[in-house]
Amino acid sequence: MIPFISQLPADEENIWIAALNQALPDENIIAVTELKPADKKHCLLAIVANPNTELLAEFENLTWLHSIWAGVENLMMSLADSPIDVVRLIDPTLSRAMSEAVLAWSLYLHRDMPRYAKQQHNKHWQQHQLVPASERRIGILGLGELGQVSARQLQQNGFKVMGWSRTAKKIPNIGTYSGNSGLAEMVAQSDILVCLLPLTPTTRGMVNKKLLAQLPQGSAVINFARGGIINTDELLNALNSKHLSHAVLDVFDHEPLSIDSGLWQHPDITILPHISAPTNLNSACDIVAKNIISFRATGQIPKSVSKVNGY
Ligand code: NAP
Repeated sequence: MIPFISQLPADEENIWIAALNQALPDENIIAVTELKPADKKHCLLAIVANPNTELLAEFENLTWLHSIWAGVENLMMSLADSPIDVVRLIDPTLSRAMSEAVLAWSLYLHRDMPRYAKQQHNKHWQQHQLVPASERRIGILGLGELGQVSARQLQQNGFKVMGWSRTAKKIPNIGTYSGNSGLAEMVAQSDILVCLLPLTPTTRGMVNKKLLAQLPQGSAVINFARGGIINTDELLNALNSKHLSHAVLDVFDHEPLSIDSGLWQHPDITILPHISAPTNLNSACDIVAKNIISFRATGQIPKSVSKVNGY
């Protein structure tokens, strides 16, 4: 028996449970609310989507969780001192969706769409010089599953692409940077800065006044990772002073973004409702099924998220 533990609406949870049972015909995946107390001690693993971690304490023999989301930062913060391993979704379909979003919104900024939208609003006819993609420098914070596929997508579309990661990397045709000095060097050359870092104690608030000041005048920021990585007040200052031209934000400290937030109305901010790379039901179920079948056969927990690094 495998409990499914989430905070999804009941109808969405039922769709997931049905699809997972179809992908794993030898298992019984069941909503945690329907599990009898006596059955809980037989559960070695659970399938989760941002679960209420207090519920996990009721499962005395739980050794690992399979998340159906790629981002597991809340779970890692709650389970930092727990022996339970967390396996997150690593899905090429999701990485492709993210790379498409990175390309789409990079093109939006590259082709000056926010400026032309303002001009249309003011019935103002003015042509601006076109910068070739080969001269547009895009820096990506994070060269993991999502960052690397996005970097390649941008590079294949003619942009000059750089990426920054914790450990040094070599990727053909991508300028790679690591460490504090590497960060400053890349940021200083980024006309568009794309954030694809995980939220950890180290990355929280990392995109702050100091880092934003290092960006070239008139540059833009895209955050598709987690709201907590950007210091929002300092981002607003950088936009209001016109040091930055625009920000595309898909993720926020509190979601949904409050209707009282001033970010909604800001003329130089594009707000997206956390849609850059949603989990795909079919591909996610196939991947979760493959991992669970392998665990049943070998007793080996699939590669889990590092408790030391928090991602
Ligand atoms: P990942 O594979 O774990 O990659 C993380 C990358 O960030 C790695 O390159 C890592 O460096 C780098 N990194 C981590 N901490 C760092 C630090 N302190 N300094 C420098 N680099 C650091 O993660 P992913 O799958 O690409 O996902 C990234 C994030 O995207 C997720 O955590 C989630 O928050 C977000 N996400 C958003 C959506 C959405 O719809 N908006 C969807 C899915 C995921 P190393 O390579 O050296 O380890």
